[in-house]
Amino acid sequence: TQTLHVLARVAPLGDRLVLALVEDRTHEIRVDEIRRDFVANVSHELKTPVGAMMLLAEAVEGASDDPEAVRRFAQGMQREGERLTRLVQEIIDLSRLQYDDPVQSPDPVEIDDVVSAAVDRSRVDAENRDIRLTTGGTKGLQVLGNEQQLVIAVGNLVENAVSYSPEGAKVSVGVRRRDDVVEISVTDQGYGIAEADLDRIFERFYRVDPARSRETGGTGLGLSIVKHIAASHGGDVKVWSVQGAGSTFTVRLPLHPYRPGQPSGVVSHA
Ligand code: ADP
Repeated sequence: TQTLHVLARVAPLGDRLVLALVEDRTHEIRVDEIRRDFVANVSHELKTPVGAMMLLAEAVEGASDDPEAVRRFAQGMQREGERLTRLVQEIIDLSRLQYDDPVQSPDPVEIDDVVSAAVDRSRVDAENRDIRLTTGGTKGLQVLGNEQQLVIAVGNLVENAVSYSPEGAKVSVGVRRRDDVVEISVTDQGYGIAEADLDRIFERFYRVDPARSRETGGTGLGLSIVKHIAASHGGDVKVWSVQGAGSTFTVRLPLHPYRPGQPSGVVSHA
């Protein structure tokens, strides 16, 4: 909506001077709309796993003399429960982030620590699917911000790279400095994303393939969280992707001023 709400107070001062106070409320109205859409989406998203759990509970009741079926339905309930927990957690994360933009009381954060903590979050998933997870690039870089949030952002990208890749693929995380900017790139050889979807994947709850996202326990919120965190650190996130070949997501953050004596150089390690 492009409605422009104008509040004007005109006060003649002397013969000619006019003071006008103009307030543009377009932004406020847009934020309100986004909030309303978000609440509608959240209700829909919460109803899906709850509905599935209720159906599964009914199915368990009806299958009491078939232990194999009971086991399958119970596993399904557990899966939906995990999805629900994750969804609630991510909704809480998102709403917390809204109150921390720009990041309040930022600290110097070592990018090496962010990358290793982010990669650790996906190690088990990667091992289970025989995906080789490597890190490399420039060491010793720092940004100013909130370490926990940065781990969530890079962690979400690594998690997606693992989730949207076939078994046996490679995922790499690279760090490099470009002038006053740190670039953290997560590259996969996975399914890739069609050009038409590239603009939309950062929207809340947008999934290219809802069935696949559901299978991997996705909530559709991961990338919107990444985008939010990058922006509140004064940076951004970009994606390059070729369908069927893989994707690279790059978070760019303003570099914390270089500290003399700080080690720097290119080191590659698995
Ligand atoms: P989800 O929880 O579904 O993974 P995200 O917000 O993290 O939600 O991502 C949105 C959608 O973008 C995903 O559902 C998926 O379709 C697509 N996507 C994200 N990362 C990748 C990737 N590395 N490779 C292919 N598709 C991806």
